[in-house]
Amino acid sequence: MAGLFIDVEVDDQIRDQADIAQKLEDACPVDIYRNADGHVEIVEDNLDECVLCELCMNAAPKGTVRVKKLYDGGVLQS
Ligand code: SF4
Repeated sequence: MAGLFIDVEVDDQIRDQADIAQKLEDACPVDIYRNADGHVEIVEDNLDECVLCELCMNAAPKGTVRVKKLYDGGVLQS
């Protein structure tokens, strides 16, 4: 389930990559990503804490992470 203001999408191709899961966990300042035994997990309770810093997009391969601003329809993508 999405947050009220923010949703995050992660491509299937990186979902099970442990190194990227860890990079995302390390990158996000508000803990939206968790490395769950090598899988990318989205912490839904934290979605609306997103500060639109784009660090997650820089931590993952280009185009594999999208942050959707549900309040204005905008999408942040690397
Ligand atoms: S844009 Fe920043 S705060 Fe939002 S999910 Fe990505 S790393 Fe976390």
